[in-house]
Amino acid sequence: MADPAHDLVSESIPHWYGGDSDDVLSLVDGDGVVVTDDEGNEYLDFNAQLYCVNAGHGDERIVEAIREQASRIAYVSASKHNDTRTELASRLAEITPGELNDVFFSVSGSEANEAAVQFAREYTGARKVLTRYRSYHGATYGAGSLTGDPETRNAVERYAAMTGAAKFLPPVAHRSPFDADSPEDLARQAADHLAYVIQQEGPDSIAAVLMEPVGGTSGAYPAPADYWQRVRDICDEYDILLIADEVITGFGRCGEWFGIQTEDVVPDLLTFAKGITSAYVPLAGVAVHPDIAAHLRESGIDVGQTFAGHPLACAAGVAALDAYEDGLIENARARSDHLEARLRELEAHDAVGDVRGRGLLWAVEFTDPETGEPFLHPWVDDGDNPVRDVIGETQERGVLVGGGRPKTQIILSPPLPVTDAEIDRAVDAIDSAIASVF
Ligand code: PLP
Repeated sequence: MADPAHDLVSESIPHWYGGDSDDVLSLVDGDGVVVTDDEGNEYLDFNAQLYCVNAGHGDERIVEAIREQASRIAYVSASKHNDTRTELASRLAEITPGELNDVFFSVSGSEANEAAVQFAREYTGARKVLTRYRSYHGATYGAGSLTGDPETRNAVERYAAMTGAAKFLPPVAHRSPFDADSPEDLARQAADHLAYVIQQEGPDSIAAVLMEPVGGTSGAYPAPADYWQRVRDICDEYDILLIADEVITGFGRCGEWFGIQTEDVVPDLLTFAKGITSAYVPLAGVAVHPDIAAHLRESGIDVGQTFAGHPLACAAGVAALDAYEDGLIENARARSDHLEARLRELEAHDAVGDVRGRGLLWAVEFTDPETGEPFLHPWVDDGDNPVRDVIGETQERGVLVGGGRPKTQIILSPPLPVTDAEIDRAVDAIDSAIASVF
């Protein structure tokens, strides 16, 4: 009998990102948007290592901040205050939307989402959490159940599942589950569908709706205008909390500090990870509305993790925020139009079915030119997937891009200091890779 644990270990080998296992890159150096492998080959890192290194590689300001912190005091437990941790929390309070001024630190995006769910449940006294089918919220037992991507969710739920994790349909326009004739119609239909799901699940049983402001690994899909406002209104109507998962979309990725700020809506809780330190040291957390924070303090809920808010990570976080403030978010906003314009040129390929994104987070989705259908069942990649070949051929041309889930797309998320010239080189490489595969 197949050993399921073995299957999981095999899946964690990054075949998808590097072609065959023999081809998996070993990266040893990085500078800005460029990374170098152990044979001295350079690549433009248009995935920012899983959407993490927003400030770019080798930023001396972040490195120096970590060094300085380590030389003073490397670790202070969460039961004590620490000046760097306090500074980062107050800096975050300044930039988070609305009044989300109370910060709870954790270590990874999965744990941040689980903490947010725990807080929402404690505050509302309700258990269910609604998330979208096209979503990724993590791979631990709880966050894996929240995730819509069936590959992750089913791998996790083979063993255990978070109770009360229910799903609803995403407002995607390409291969849409809705039959909408305009973005406005899509926003309305998708929001009406959410209201229907809430009524069927029982509004009083639902603690929160959890969504990524722009879908991340599941396809860099922005919501149609007005969708988020409609969802906010529905949550208010039924007394359900709204949680924004900003693990990918935070820290300049979509051209603002947080992706939700491109929607002009304020959530009740906001989770973050990755870009908070540009991944120089792991750090994540939840920004919480003060009413919720006050309730949690009163209820005496006392949960935390040893490495949450680690001072080295907080030092990296403060320095990363400085770097974002010092022109990087502005650059992300300024480069976005050029990236979009260049990616739209790829639509000339019959195999390119859709190009979409926001800021510096974009997806190119492929389609079989013969049939107009996806090449493969989106969730079953038996190795014979031309999109995988596009990723490999792009790498051969010196550019790293991400693979999405479903695996019918590639995702681009360059570090924020990217230049127009680097965008040109990357898109030229993708263009040539597509031509070589199809
Ligand atoms: N949420 C989103 C939107 C993500 O993209 C991810 C990871 O990619 C997570 C949560 C989980 O974060 P982590 O892998 O740090 O647990």
